[in-house]
Amino acid sequence: MNNCIFCKIVNKEIPSNYIYEDDDMIIIKDINPIAKKHFLAIPKLHFSDVVSMSEDNAKTIGKMLKKIGAIADSLLELEKGFRIVMNKGEHGCQSIFHLHLHILGGEQLSPHFN
Ligand code: 5GP
Ligand code: ZN
Repeated sequence: MNNCIFCKIVNKEIPSNYIYEDDDMIIIKDINPIAKKHFLAIPKLHFSDVVSMSEDNAKTIGKMLKKIGAIADSLLELEKGFRIVMNKGEHGCQSIFHLHLHILGGEQLSPHFN
């Protein structure tokens, strides 16, 4: 956890391009975007993935989703739609083991997920 890059970004030990922050999460731009718009919604609390998350963690993710929906048009400028992705483990190509949601949009996305 101490060595977790997303904890460091959450704690502002590493600067990032912060788009949004509240008590539960931050939203930043992905450093290596795979769509015209590619944000990361990162819970402030460290837990690695959907398998290890607690009930409280799950409530936080629910609140995050609600908030993302509320700011999608106004702040994230995703009025034509978007995709939310959560990677888990090797087959899911998870590379950072602090759970996060990818928010993809800003252009027409492929109907295929892989
Ligand atoms: P994962 O593969 O774990 O689902 O997603 C990790 C994401 O974090 C990748 O899309 C990668 O580009 C992004 N990322 C990795 N390091 C940094 C960083 O230091 N800053 C930002 N903004 N994004 C990062
Ligand atoms: Zn972390």
